[in-house]
Amino acid sequence: MANKILVFLEQRQGQIKKSSYEAVSASIALSQNLNSEIEGVVIGGEVENVRLAGNYGLKKLYHIKNEQLENYSSSAYTDSLLEIINTADAQIIVFSSTSMGKDLAPRIAAKLDCGIVTDVTEWKVENGEIIATRPVYAGKALTDVKVKSEKKIFTLRPNVFKAEKISEQEAEIEVKNPGDLNLKTRVVDIKKSDTKLDVAEADIIVSGGRGMKAPENFKLIEELADLLGAATGASRAVVDAGWRPHSEQVGQTGKTVSPTLYIALGISGAIQHLAGMRSSKYIVAVNKDKDAPIFQIADYGIVGDVFEIVPAMIEELKKL
Ligand code: FAD
Repeated sequence: MANKILVFLEQRQGQIKKSSYEAVSASIALSQNLNSEIEGVVIGGEVENVRLAGNYGLKKLYHIKNEQLENYSSSAYTDSLLEIINTADAQIIVFSSTSMGKDLAPRIAAKLDCGIVTDVTEWKVENGEIIATRPVYAGKALTDVKVKSEKKIFTLRPNVFKAEKISEQEAEIEVKNPGDLNLKTRVVDIKKSDTKLDVAEADIIVSGGRGMKAPENFKLIEELADLLGAATGASRAVVDAGWRPHSEQVGQTGKTVSPTLYIALGISGAIQHLAGMRSSKYIVAVNKDKDAPIFQIADYGIVGDVFEIVPAMIEELKKL
């Protein structure tokens, strides 16, 4: 069947990421409009709840299973995925725009010599053709893109499409073991960051900037985040100063986030910061400068001192 879709489901430490289920749900909707078949692929060792993808509407999932594939390897994942694209005879390959997706998808596009649209925030089918929308100019404008090549690759921005369980059915799994992979590199150790929630996947983010004045004051950010079940984020200024880890940096040279709620505390709203968070659904900003650019995109703005406002927010939330 033409236009067959293959969704790449990403696992880390044997767990499939939420953003992969978002990619499945978005692709299911697209497949209905294209009247095309859809399958999935996961690469790794043991993967927990691998059949769960069926709940999101995926009937069949290839599991390329080998203990050497437990951790991401650019070359081994590229080779394994190319093989499945061939086996499945897929024309449309969909990834989530995570660090892994951002590395893997362009490699596949180069090998297949086909077009790719990255960081898609919306897509539709018009006259049998896919039209994908993606932000450009650091999120200041949106552009619609059509891919002309026969095979097409898309990466979808996490947290934009909704992951929807639509049935109780489990996916049929076809396991493939590629045998000895002769890897040229090997992961010897993984150090987990102290960050509880990944900022790129969180539904609520509490972010702090230079207005927090000192690293120890981020306790306030952490406390507020804990109360809201949120991830903690940061501007580049505080990451460069060594106050917060780079994994928390939001922006052009950090992570792109699209949470439901983004709370910016003591962040001016430089264009490079906005590039990473302007697609958040609701933006709340606290800044003592009423002319701070963050207020131009904030849905709710408080002109005030973070050291007065944040403790008051914490106090109110504790009453709930
Ligand atoms: P500042 O701009 O110093 O703002 C601090 C804010 O805190 C001010 O608005 C001030 O009014 C407010 N404030 C101070 N005290 C208080 C108080 N007590 N209560 C309330 N408010 C207070 N930046 C990013 O964030 N992410 C990126 O990925 C990124 N990439 C970049 C890439 C390039 C190529 C370049 C050139 C820059 C990049 N930057 C990035 C840096 C960016 O330009 C800004 O310098 C940075 O975002 C500023 O961080 P900030 O808002 O924390 O600090």
